Amino acid sequence: MDRLLTEIETRRAALVSCTQDLIQIPTLNPPGRRYRDICDWVGHRMGAQGWQVQMVRAEGAPGDSDRYPRWNVICRLEGSRPGECVHFNSHHDVVAVGHGWTKDPFGAEHSDGRVWGRGACDMKGGLATSIVAAEAFVALRPDFAGAIEISATADEESGGFGGVAYLAQKGFFDPARVQHVIIPEPLNKDRICLGHRGVWWAEIETNGRIAHGSMPFLGDCAVRHMGAVLDEMEATLFPLLAGKRTEMPVVPDGAKQSTLNINAIHGGEPVQDADYTGLPSACVPDRCTLTIDRRFLIEEDIADVKREVTQMMERIREKRPDFRYEIRDLFEVQPSMTSEDAPVVRTVEAAIREVMGKSAEFVVSPGTYDQKHIDRIGRLKNCIAYGPGILDLAHQPDEWIGVDDMMDAGKVMALTLAKLLT
Ligand SMILES: [Zn+2]
Repeated sequence: MDRLLTEIETRRAALVSCTQDLIQIPTLNPPGRRYRDICDWVGHRMGAQGWQVQMVRAEGAPGDSDRYPRWNVICRLEGSRPGECVHFNSHHDVVAVGHGWTKDPFGAEHSDGRVWGRGACDMKGGLATSIVAAEAFVALRPDFAGAIEISATADEESGGFGGVAYLAQKGFFDPARVQHVIIPEPLNKDRICLGHRGVWWAEIETNGRIAHGSMPFLGDCAVRHMGAVLDEMEATLFPLLAGKRTEMPVVPDGAKQSTLNINAIHGGEPVQDADYTGLPSACVPDRCTLTIDRRFLIEEDIADVKREVTQMMERIREKRPDFRYEIRDLFEVQPSMTSEDAPVVRTVEAAIREVMGKSAEFVVSPGTYDQKHIDRIGRLKNCIAYGPGILDLAHQPDEWIGVDDMMDAGKVMALTLAKLLT
């Protein structure tokens, strides 16, 4: 085992340059730029070392087009004997740059023991770490049992439908083919993320009747109806959600309860283009929409989550004349949580203890990531997120990944391979 850790130590420069090369391909999502380039980069590197490389385009998936094709790459190396397969899955897309940077977002500067850039922490540093850890392991143990897979997949930042969901539908995460999945998302190097809360996105619409704004009594204002919805939310729904606590080890602490975000509200006349110089026209709004983002706990049932909102709307209808509404489902994801006794959890836990001399912290993510597709579509339960990087830096300006953190996480990954593939 010590030789394996030393082997990782010798690859520090390789790990830094691998991270830099990945950051320098600006795989912005939306719209989904340079996906083929980053898949080619990973495919060439692994193919040159004898790995089988498969390029898979998620044709017909949301966002896929000839201009922005949704490319994924899956690399696989067979061992010398039968055994289990360990799969490292990283998304290769990054979110918009945003404002406030002091570094070049795609320059991949290496300074102060960090590599800087959009996607450094979320999650090209994690992808690079899994690549280098696997390379070190294979160099030292070419006679390993089973197989190793490394994938770089599209669109995690926009739901994963052109990435892991598509691959899961095609059988890439069939438990007969893959037995252990590690997603190197930036959850901190001493934490094992067991899963995530559930999500329900919906749009609530209130309806009224349009009329001249000088005689609002002739119409029916949909925005005032929505005001009643907001009042009722404050009075009953938010207190109800605050009272629901989970046994899941969600971090940060505020996410240990059910939450609801009002994502958007639109009512009345549409906002005009910036170059419009006229005044608004006088109308009573006949339509108002509210988008809600409800995050729920493993103890909750999605049917109850939806019923709470319907019941709230019905309470308003009973006391408010002419109150009409609709609720439309936009998106939903069930909560996912791998057991602490699952083999991949126990193995990574033991590796963290060996490398860092402390026990791992088990956490659950407030938001979802690609584990949902591996669990729900792939039917593979032995899956965790484990990777270097500080979660809070994801999607921020001046995003960075610490080289020491990548080295430590790389040791944990290599040790995990050594334990599972003997
Ligand atoms: Zn991510």
